Amino acid sequence: MGLLDGKTVLVAGVTMDSSIGFAVAKVAQEQGARVLISNFGRALSITKRIAKRLPEEPPVLDLDVTNQEHLDGLADALRAEGVERLDGVVHSIAYGNPETLLGGKFLDGPWDDVSQAVQVSAYSLKSLAMATRPLMSEGSSIVGLTFDATVAWPAYDWMGVAKAALESTSRYLARDLGPDGIRCNLVSAGPLKTLAAKAIPGFEELDEGWGSRAPLGWDNTDQGPTAKAVCALISDFFPATTGEIIHVDGGYHSLGA
Ligand code: NAP
Repeated sequence: MGLLDGKTVLVAGVTMDSSIGFAVAKVAQEQGARVLISNFGRALSITKRIAKRLPEEPPVLDLDVTNQEHLDGLADALRAEGVERLDGVVHSIAYGNPETLLGGKFLDGPWDDVSQAVQVSAYSLKSLAMATRPLMSEGSSIVGLTFDATVAWPAYDWMGVAKAALESTSRYLARDLGPDGIRCNLVSAGPLKTLAAKAIPGFEELDEGWGSRAPLGWDNTDQGPTAKAVCALISDFFPATTGEIIHVDGGYHSLGA
């Protein structure tokens, strides 16, 4: 018996096999779920190649979360793949221009780039939830990925602000979708060496000392623990949890200075 037997899950935001979304798709399949993945633009062809590395090759959908046509057509695109109901929707998406917004550029970050970061990384959780809502009902679960936005980190700069917006967006979605029995939660992961992380100038500063300080230690090359937590939140084992942020960081967040 798998934790997600009989469930259908959409994982949005898979580019490489290092993507957290890839690990989520893998664990979800191992736990019995039918999985669909998405990415957008030029990277779509990479995602299609990477999809073959999953235990079962999933359908790959083209979804730019800033493109209203893509969002409007998503439910039909899923139906065309034979999906009648989504039990899980995973938002594993973020973008902030590393040239202008990250790595110590906080005081100079231009609004156009900040607004793009907030749209792609935070507002899109609401966009994705609404685009998939026709296929969600009692028991469906939305899960996003954050990096603890309660404090200011080195280098993270405007992405930290975007994550604060994501965390708030998740709570409001939990409030407004709760009456339909739809949950919305986030997993707050420790630093992981993915494509997005490597694009952050100064990622090493964020990462430094995490493994030695975290009570449980931390392997920044292992997306598995984060993926397992996402799948647990999709499962029926968190039926009364919504608007929550689960830390998967080796316990680092629980320490003082
Ligand atoms: P990743 O592999 O680069 O995944 C980010 C995904 O977002 C990519 O597939 C990217 O596509 C996609 N994306 C960007 N703009 C998009 C758009 N407009 N529409 C649709 N998709 C878009 O990096 P990751 O680290 O796994 O990130 C996944 C999530 O985990 C993000 O929310 C990230 O902030 C969060 N997180 C990461 C860490 C970490 O240390 N890595 C820690 C905590 C939380 P392209 O590659 O084609 O641009």
